[in-house]
Amino acid sequence: MFEYAPAPESRAIVDIKPSYGLFINGEFVDGNGTSFKTVNPATEEVLAEVAEASDADVDEAVKAARRAYTRVWSRMSGAERAKYLYRIARIIQERGRELAVLESIDNGKPIKESRDVDVPIVAAHFFYYAGWADKLKYSGYGETPLGVAGQVIPWNFPLLMLAWKIAPALACGNTVVLKPAETTPLTALLFAEICQQADLPPGVVNIVTGAGETGRAIVSHPDVDKVAFTGSTEVGKAIARAVAGSDKKVTLELGGKAANIVFDDAPIDQAVEGIVDGIFFNQGHVCCAGSRLLVQESVADEVLERLKRRMSTLRMGDPLDKNTDVGAINSGEQLMRIRELSEVGDAEGAERWEVACDLPTKGYWFPPTIFTGVSQAHRIAREEIFGPVLSVLTFRTPSEAVEKANNTPFGLSAGVWTDKGSRILSMANRLRAGVVWANTFNKFDPTSPFGGYKESGYGREGGRHGLEAYLKTPSLKGADA
Ligand code: NAD
Repeated sequence: MFEYAPAPESRAIVDIKPSYGLFINGEFVDGNGTSFKTVNPATEEVLAEVAEASDADVDEAVKAARRAYTRVWSRMSGAERAKYLYRIARIIQERGRELAVLESIDNGKPIKESRDVDVPIVAAHFFYYAGWADKLKYSGYGETPLGVAGQVIPWNFPLLMLAWKIAPALACGNTVVLKPAETTPLTALLFAEICQQADLPPGVVNIVTGAGETGRAIVSHPDVDKVAFTGSTEVGKAIARAVAGSDKKVTLELGGKAANIVFDDAPIDQAVEGIVDGIFFNQGHVCCAGSRLLVQESVADEVLERLKRRMSTLRMGDPLDKNTDVGAINSGEQLMRIRELSEVGDAEGAERWEVACDLPTKGYWFPPTIFTGVSQAHRIAREEIFGPVLSVLTFRTPSEAVEKANNTPFGLSAGVWTDKGSRILSMANRLRAGVVWANTFNKFDPTSPFGGYKESGYGREGGRHGLEAYLKTPSLKGADA
């Protein structure tokens, strides 16, 4: 531990209103429902009162989206739609600092992540899909939009998940009703202001805030043609059941329990950086987090020693401080889940090691932690902790690594660290994961598809593949063979 001068980003750039309504048909409206509070997880300060959309409010939003779809958006040329997407992308860049500060305040993530990762990738997504809007005939998925998309997103990357959902939907000619998570609604509401600023036709984007009941009203609304959900596997399964038998198109981006596999020929210092990035980036609130470290037995001691040394230099604290590496846990509820599952790790006989540091007295905090002596049967090796907690397992041969990595109900991502290109290719072929990173981790790019196998969901977001979710794919008979 060493002393350093704090360098907090000013929050003066954001104007947080005492209360927020729903964004329906291009305007902020009060809604019929009740309201809920959104809190700064680093301080427990109540930031604002936010409207909770009722079934009737959701119905209004879906009607507005349908009107905008039939009268304006689906009739507009792709080139015209692209202009709006480019405009939104540019405004996101211009207001990037404001978005980043607000995201860190409402979510608890370090400003250097919201500023250097989330917001730039959000803008990149809008730029990328703006480029597709007038080229859909080359997509391979047809060029006919579906209609109204109902989209429900989680709290870990509030603005980024919004971009992953809204950018391809609009590019393909759909209109949307989106619900942000109940603990992180503020950047979605700022995005609504950006839609106004971009003169997006009313009703093309509607943002309704609320919790699970509001989400349920969106996905089960009979006039929604497409459901796009990112969140927990449990809720994903409930949604799949709710829409079964309807003709709604569905994509589900769910949980994960990624293996980050380190072979003995890997450059150890780089691998240690990748392990740290894999599990402590965004406090481990990452669906594709490298939460299971599989390290080859011959280098396990060395990797763990260097990992602990590196973890001891992580700076934890005020998310708005530009020095901060690890911010606050997003909510008291999530903190409780992390604590509970970690205690299960203790009870199962794994050995806990955590960074020695003073945690702030207010807010929700959990120190970067590793568990060694973990076996595959342990719950901390099987269940998603969704926090800064790493489970360490060892292996001797590549086949054992593959067997252990694939021994999970999830299949979202994996990492491989080795000096051998041939081993990377063979591992990538054998790992049942939607994304396999080699000698890097947590790299996101709008051109690259992302999504899972098994209980991690189905459908892809990003890249050309991401268009499929928002287009009526021509039947094989009608398509060019
Ligand atoms: P969650 O499933 O509790 O909530 C996600 C969203 O669904 C929230 O907006 C919530 O209000 C809403 N919701 C809750 N119940 C609902 C219902 N019955 N019907 C419709 N909507 C409902 O998940 P969370 O705790 O917010 O997010 C964490 C989870 O998200 C983790 O499991 C993580 O792995 C996953 N995630 C996956 C990806 C991915 O791309 N695969 C990305 C980010 C997060």
